[in-house]
Amino acid sequence: MRLAIGLDIGGTFMKGGVVSERGDVLDFMKVRTPEGRKVEDVLDVISEIVRKFQGKYEISSIGVASPGSVTKDGVVLFSPNFPLWKDVPLKDFMQARFSLPVVVDNDANAYAFGEYEIGVAKGVGNFILLTLGTGVGGAVFCEGRLFKGSIGIGGELGHIIVGSSGPTCGCGNIGCLETYSSLRGIQEFAARENLNEEQSKPMVLLNLATRGDLRAKKIINIFKDYLIKALISYIHIFNPQLVVLGGGLSRDYKVILSDLTEIVNERVMPSFKGTFKVVFSSLSDEAGVVGIALMALKDGH
Ligand SMILES: [Zn+2]
Repeated sequence: MRLAIGLDIGGTFMKGGVVSERGDVLDFMKVRTPEGRKVEDVLDVISEIVRKFQGKYEISSIGVASPGSVTKDGVVLFSPNFPLWKDVPLKDFMQARFSLPVVVDNDANAYAFGEYEIGVAKGVGNFILLTLGTGVGGAVFCEGRLFKGSIGIGGELGHIIVGSSGPTCGCGNIGCLETYSSLRGIQEFAARENLNEEQSKPMVLLNLATRGDLRAKKIINIFKDYLIKALISYIHIFNPQLVVLGGGLSRDYKVILSDLTEIVNERVMPSFKGTFKVVFSSLSDEAGVVGIALMALKDGH
């Protein structure tokens, strides 16, 4: 059975795994992302992970999931969470260093590919994925394929404009979904309400809101209301069968997000009613690693 290494570059952690064609994770490691997130430092860590795995397994291809705008040629053009990354030829770099076929894609695309192959969206041709975490990642699956756009960087669902005020987004705009319905959004609004660092942690904030704290309630409502607005638009634009919610915040806030199918269904235009479900990701922390590795294995044929 062919094996690929999947690598997932995150703002806090970098994950790597050896994955089989069935999606089984044979080996997995997680290391802290180097302070400053410099290109050279990150590439050094990735290379070290690959070398370690290569010493133990026969590897046929490598997949790298990167945050930000990744072109069809595997160049990372820009990433809101990695300000130093500009036009990084990640695919060429990896291919030159390891002489193996390499696939590079956006991290949310990798996650969605994993959901399509072995997750909750298995075999579902039309679905969208939102990852609710530090920011909001997005991916669109259309007729059984990832939607890419002209140069490959489309599907940025987290940057749909749903408001006209609020914090400035990492992308430079005001009103992006990411500025309301992400960890960074929560922290920003919590600071505005004079909540301290402890109180602005997602679970602490949710507990405060449940116990009736008005400031916490307001922030949780902002989080959910803007998410609902965005979902209504996605349903109208993409007509998906499923909306998959992933990322740490979707797990933390499952209890307040589990009625989204009903709420969104009430507000979409009549022809869309009953055509979709909002569900939670069935994949774990390893989703990005598995998704990008499977992509590398399919691509390597
Ligand atoms: Zn934005």
